[in-house]
Amino acid sequence: MSNSSNVQKVLIAGGGLGGMTAALSLLKKGIDVEVFEQASELKEVGAGLHVAPNAFRVLDEIGLAQEALKTACVAAGREVRLWNTGDTWPVFDLGVKSVEQYGFPYCTMYRPDLLAILVNGVRAIKPDAIHLKSSCQSFEQDTDGVTLHHNQGTARGDVLIGADGVHSKIRQGLFGNDSPIYSGLVAWRGLIPMDRLPEKMRRLVGTNWIGPGGHVVHYPVHGGKLMNLAAISEGNGDWQEESWNIPGSVEDCLALFPGWHDDLKLLIKSIDSPYKWALMIRPPMDRWGVGRVSLLGDACHATLPFLGQGAAMAMEDGFMLARALEVESNPITALKRYENARRDRTARIVNGSAGNTKRFHNPVLAEPETARAYVDREWAPDKIAERYEWIYTYDVTKALI
Ligand SMILES: Cc1cc2nc3c(=O)[nH]c(=O)nc-3n(C[C@H](O)[C@H](O)[C@H](O)COP(=O)(O)OP(=O)(O)OC[C@H]3O[C@@H](n4cnc5c(N)ncnc54)[C@H](O)[C@@H]3O)c2cc1C
Repeated sequence: MSNSSNVQKVLIAGGGLGGMTAALSLLKKGIDVEVFEQASELKEVGAGLHVAPNAFRVLDEIGLAQEALKTACVAAGREVRLWNTGDTWPVFDLGVKSVEQYGFPYCTMYRPDLLAILVNGVRAIKPDAIHLKSSCQSFEQDTDGVTLHHNQGTARGDVLIGADGVHSKIRQGLFGNDSPIYSGLVAWRGLIPMDRLPEKMRRLVGTNWIGPGGHVVHYPVHGGKLMNLAAISEGNGDWQEESWNIPGSVEDCLALFPGWHDDLKLLIKSIDSPYKWALMIRPPMDRWGVGRVSLLGDACHATLPFLGQGAAMAMEDGFMLARALEVESNPITALKRYENARRDRTARIVNGSAGNTKRFHNPVLAEPETARAYVDREWAPDKIAERYEWIYTYDVTKALI
């Protein structure tokens, strides 16, 4: 392994999808890493995510495409459905077309499957790279490096990356407390064993039910054995906890979707244990780093999940960070180049996701007549291309740095 960087060791706070992608991308470029993760074991809370072609490109580049395809579901398409009538609009023809158009498949994955292949990839190169039960607290930097303090001790490296999610301690250390704004929306998430659903629902398609005041997304994951569902709704009162693992009840979730189509109600009723997550808005940050310390993923650009790109951005960040540290020998300049390469794209996605709230929850969806005209207009091929093409065609391996 060889690289032109002066950076010998990168400390990464947080071993989620972004931190692990960064770790593997760096190790593959011959740069040493240590990952400090607060959890006592590396397991994701069960949920799914879209791995759009721009994110799949990252997996391919770090040698995990074949592993990913063992459990990923390659989406045949995506569709929009109307909340009460169930009218359906096919909006993306994917499958083979995704590979033809973007170079890579459009997949949906079970988060634990994705995290596991990243962790295995890291450990295959450096078995002791990941330190568990290591909750990062603070850091200080000097002219030679950075010292990270975690609950097991300290670590010294050339740079420190905060990949520690929405409540990032590293971001707090750099810029103080943030002040997210409650969006008024709660995401209810759950998994459904596929064999619990009727045949007609067991399809390799991503579905987005849209209606006044809410929308519900579902798609298959884990080799098609599970259906992942995320139901987003207004009307949850002032409940505002932002966490992956707060349990809710099927009854409470169902009560938020009165009058919605029976197919959808059946899906919600089939969840064993839903979790709920209050969705917060954080405007894009002006800067991500200071000196030898920077951020990636949700720590610097947490987003509403309405473009299915939160994890994708974190993975792209991880890969771009490795590129920057490979080509630029000065660590401070490298982090600046990384940030400059990523800031505008991620801000555009954060703003675009927020814009989808109005689109998916529009009051005109209440009546079928106005709803049909609205969907025809908003999901017309040229509008879809305008909203999504730039996201999926982005090539993090070639983007200017
Ligand atoms: C309902 C919902 C649906 C979503 N759907 C999609 C989707 O379809 N596609 C998509 O791409 N994205 C999706 N996302 C977004 C995506 O989940 C996140 O953007 C992504 O997980 C960010 O990755 P990350 O590595 O930055 O942060 P995280 O995944 O949050 O990882 C942070 C890690 O840091 C650890 N950590 C935290 N604090 C500390 C500390 N002090 N010390 C040490 N370790 C620490 C945590 O334990 C965790 O392992 C969705 C999000 C939600 C809420």
